[in-house]
Amino acid sequence: MKIRKNNYQEILSDDKWRKMATDMSHVGYWKYEIENQSVSWSDQIYRIHGVTKSGYEPKIDSAINFYHHDDRKVVIDALEKAIKQKKPFEFRARIITPKGVEKHVEAKGKCYISNGETVALLGTFNDISHHIKQTKRLEEANERYELATKESSMGLWDWDIKNDTFFWSKTLKDLLGIKSKSFSPTFKEFKNLLHPEDRDKVIKSLYKHLNKNLPYNIDFRLRHTNGKYIWLQARGKAIREDGGKAIRMLGSVEDVTEIKKVKDIQKRNEQQLRAAIDQATVGKALVSEKGEWLRVNNALCKLLGYTEKEILQLCFMDITHPDDLPTSLKMKEEVLAKKYNSYQTEKRYLHKKGHVIHTLLNVSLVRDENDQPLYFISEIQDISKLIKDKKKLAESQERLDVALNATDMGIWDWDIKNDILFTNDKWATMLGYKHSEIKPRFKSWEKLIHPDDKKTLLKNLHNHLDNKTKVYHAEARVKAKSGKWKWVQTSGKVVERDKNGEALRIVGTHINITNKTKTLKILHLIYEIASDITLDAHEKINAVLKATLEYLDLDLAIISKIVDSKYKIRYAYPISSKIKPGKELDLNQTYCLNTFKNSRIFAIHHAKKHPIAKQVCYKKQQLESYIGTRFSVNGRIYGTINFSSKSDRKKFSSEEKTIVQLVSQWIASQINNENHLQALIKSETRLEDTVEKLSESNAELGRFAYIASHDLQEPLRTVISLTELLKNKYRDNLDETANQYLNFMVDAATNMKDLVADLLEYSRVDNQRTLLEENVNTNKAIEYVIQNLKESITNSGATITHSDLPTIKAQSLRFISLMQNLISNSLKYKRPGKNPKISITAKEYKSYWQFCVEDNGIGIDHEYYKLIFEPFKRLQNKKEYSGTGIGLAICKKIVNQFGGKIWVKSNLNKGTKFYFTIPK
Ligand code: ADP
Repeated sequence: MKIRKNNYQEILSDDKWRKMATDMSHVGYWKYEIENQSVSWSDQIYRIHGVTKSGYEPKIDSAINFYHHDDRKVVIDALEKAIKQKKPFEFRARIITPKGVEKHVEAKGKCYISNGETVALLGTFNDISHHIKQTKRLEEANERYELATKESSMGLWDWDIKNDTFFWSKTLKDLLGIKSKSFSPTFKEFKNLLHPEDRDKVIKSLYKHLNKNLPYNIDFRLRHTNGKYIWLQARGKAIREDGGKAIRMLGSVEDVTEIKKVKDIQKRNEQQLRAAIDQATVGKALVSEKGEWLRVNNALCKLLGYTEKEILQLCFMDITHPDDLPTSLKMKEEVLAKKYNSYQTEKRYLHKKGHVIHTLLNVSLVRDENDQPLYFISEIQDISKLIKDKKKLAESQERLDVALNATDMGIWDWDIKNDILFTNDKWATMLGYKHSEIKPRFKSWEKLIHPDDKKTLLKNLHNHLDNKTKVYHAEARVKAKSGKWKWVQTSGKVVERDKNGEALRIVGTHINITNKTKTLKILHLIYEIASDITLDAHEKINAVLKATLEYLDLDLAIISKIVDSKYKIRYAYPISSKIKPGKELDLNQTYCLNTFKNSRIFAIHHAKKHPIAKQVCYKKQQLESYIGTRFSVNGRIYGTINFSSKSDRKKFSSEEKTIVQLVSQWIASQINNENHLQALIKSETRLEDTVEKLSESNAELGRFAYIASHDLQEPLRTVISLTELLKNKYRDNLDETANQYLNFMVDAATNMKDLVADLLEYSRVDNQRTLLEENVNTNKAIEYVIQNLKESITNSGATITHSDLPTIKAQSLRFISLMQNLISNSLKYKRPGKNPKISITAKEYKSYWQFCVEDNGIGIDHEYYKLIFEPFKRLQNKKEYSGTGIGLAICKKIVNQFGGKIWVKSNLNKGTKFYFTIPK
């Protein structure tokens, strides 16, 4: 603490500060003179500190020690700030008396200024422990209350009428969006927050409570800070002085906005309901104990065809259908006898014009205070139309049932809640069961479903029950009584749901699709076999025969070629010593005699009972079941295809016949592809004529290309030699650029020479097509090629291997050219730093040889597999790998001429396999 000296002594005489301090407060007062650091306390302050005048002499340093450790800084800061800023100050802090009693004190003070300097501090000192304790208790109580009422959103208010201030609890302020903690409105402010429509009502109610002590319980709207009004329900009670005058009023409020909203809706609904009843088409009436109509509404008059006046003359008995009268009277008596208070019944009335009106009647009896019957209230609803519809429905249902039982369709109707599965007879009989053999429960049906199909079926069903799909549809295998699986297509639709949308009833159909599915499967299988590239033609035919046999459930399949009453077996499945390809039979001894004569499918399922039983073939073969058809290749009847078994079977279905027809067509096309057959019929077909003409013109073109390229070669050779000459002779006389040009010229001309040579070779392939076929030992041919390419083989460090290769029917020169092209490519397109490894192999197939030239070179991206066989198509530029792009085009031409195919398979950066086939 800074101490300043000044001349103020006389001003601060004892009397003066005492008087000043006394003026400020009658509590303790104190003085601190800065210059001499003297502290003076009044008696009260000694008492508050728990010390006596004789026991303690106040000093600025020791006085501070009375303060609670945590509060000392607050005190020192307050005093220092006051001295510096020369402003009044106050602080609250805790002191601890020598006896250890903690007290809350409040000090207030002023600076005494002399010559612009603070020379002393003067002030009061007050023990506020009691006050603090009380406030704390209050706070706690309030907190507890707030906590308790938090959930119920109950707000509190306390209106100090005398001083006109409201205390509003936090919850109440929260309800109105008021953030300020100290907000405490006056009555006027409260009034302004009230909704204008509610103001008078609230004020009146308050006065009535304050003056007449009537209960204060009222709903009103207060404005939220967001401008909207909140509905509150307020209750309150006044606290009165002895004379009965209210001085305070305490109360609570509750947010009832939501409740109000609901009530409003209810009110509106009620109004609408009332209006609806007034305009109702439902007849209403009051009826006396004796049955006289006392009052009737318009709807009832209209319903019965009478005017109001006419009806009031009658009793209900007069217009009740005679058959329903006894029941009506009985019920009336029973209500009067208090057996029940009201009843509902279907009842027929007679219209004024005489026709019957079906109604639904609701009756209840009203009694007076003495429990004596007053009158009946009746509600009479016209249900004629409903009854008519019901009847119609029942009739059509009957008709539907009859119709459905005649079809192949199973019908089911599942009451889900009660788990009752209604079904028609067909539903069970299509699976070989009697209707009574399957319990009418969903579980019994579920048990029949194939485990592999159950999951999907149940998923589809539940999706539909949950309203996720428009219809339920599934296909599943179901166990028939015979133990076999049958394919059933089931479809259904929910026809009833409860108010929560839960499905109550679903109705549907079952169709046996076993045959359809089987047919689809065999079609699929045949398609798969036909498109399987790993099978050759021969294997494909056998696979199709086998699959068809299984589909038809028969034992033997034969494809025959028939020439001059000779039945030659081309294919058979399964093959046996008696039945195998190449074997010949007399057509007369085969069932196919009948097939061959007729273009339609020929089928027998129980030969013993068929006229065929008298034929030689039956005696020879003893086949009970047979299905077959003849087929043509290229417009000529070729032979038959047939499937048979020694056992009889059920009649062939139209689907089975269609499949046999399809298979025969496919077989025909396969045989059509066979080479020797093509050769046989070639000269006779117009197509072949055209091909021939085309190849003639092709040959002409080829000849032209040959001549052109041959003639071009000569001048080119001259250009090259002359340029070389020029280069050698004048090299020293020309500058570097000129020399470079010369080099370019030589390169370009050499390139062109190669190109022309290749073109020549390419055209030659066509040109020499008249060359005769010869036996070519391909081992020798390859050796020859290796000899030709010796230089590049040595240069590239390549190894070339080949297996024992066959002797084929071809033209050796072309075969050599083909191999040379392929092998030189393998040498050329080697991977940098890798020695080429080339192997040549051949695989034998029934009707052709398949060769393969494999290398470990740079490989070819599969998107270029086709492109590279076209003339002039190259993948690399000339700088990297020289070439003209004609090599593979030549290969393709040669292979095609041999009647084979060429293709490539490759892995980039691993190697390439060129395959080609040569027919036997
Ligand atoms: P080129 O005269 O360019 O060799 P080809 O018709 O023989 O012409 O080949 C066409 C293209 O096929 C070549 O440019 C090359 O990209 C690619 N090719 C041919 N054989 C191979 C092979 N064994 N390995 C990698 N790529 C090859």
